[in-house]
Amino acid sequence: MTNISSCRFCKSSNINVLKSIQSPHFNHKYLLYHCSECNSKFHNPNEIDISYDKMYQDIANETTDLLNEEYKPNRTWIRQKSVIQKLLKKSPESILDVGCRTGSFLMHFDKKIDRVGVELSHQFADVGKKRGLNIYTDFIENIKFDKQFNVVSSYAVLEHLTDPIPVIQDLKKLVKKDGLLIILVPWHECLKEKILYKLNIQWHMFCPPSHLNFYSKKFLNKIVKAEGNFELVYSFSTSGGIFNPFRRIPILNKAFGLFMHYYDMSFMNKIAIFDHLYVYYRKIK
Ligand SMILES: [Zn+2]
Repeated sequence: MTNISSCRFCKSSNINVLKSIQSPHFNHKYLLYHCSECNSKFHNPNEIDISYDKMYQDIANETTDLLNEEYKPNRTWIRQKSVIQKLLKKSPESILDVGCRTGSFLMHFDKKIDRVGVELSHQFADVGKKRGLNIYTDFIENIKFDKQFNVVSSYAVLEHLTDPIPVIQDLKKLVKKDGLLIILVPWHECLKEKILYKLNIQWHMFCPPSHLNFYSKKFLNKIVKAEGNFELVYSFSTSGGIFNPFRRIPILNKAFGLFMHYYDMSFMNKIAIFDHLYVYYRKIK
């Protein structure tokens, strides 16, 4: 067991332990840290000695229903596509989706577009490859890309990483000038998490050690804009996103989807109520 004495993100020593969180994967309660400097929360990935490979293989084995799912357009990705087209003012020519699972997001774009994914699970990657997508099955830091992309997206990935900062730096390098970097992360600075915290109810996004990182908006802006070559162009927060809590109950699923669709389109998405934060940065030089 190794102790942690500084913020895993901004490196400040101004950190404290808030409480301990039961892991859904192991019989262990992980300490939840908070950094007063950047307002992020995090766990120590090495608090106990575990195999991350085995844990993720177990998780993949539990979600094999995705492997047999036919591709069909869904509201979350249609919305993402429309935001991208609005921000780019045209359709992208190339997209890199890091943590692409079976490639569902990439499938929303035309075959003529260079659609590239990165996915560590071979089972998921194989489905994407069969769909005609170009998918790498390695850590992003090991892949030698010989080009940059109009869009680099990372949906629900950065919360999992034991060493996220180098990955964020790699993502930034892979964006073409005038292109977009898109990040979706679970977001603890919203009203929902604050209410659950006060009521002492565990937020479902707290599930160490698969989720290790809870970035503040302040920290994300700081690290992406650090070299002065990115600007924040859009952000919103919403609920459910890819993982709709009602997705197994058809009628509730439909009602929830419709409610969130109108919620997302309204000014309400600017208010920090829900716990999925989408941020969009443009590379300006
Ligand atoms: Zn910090």
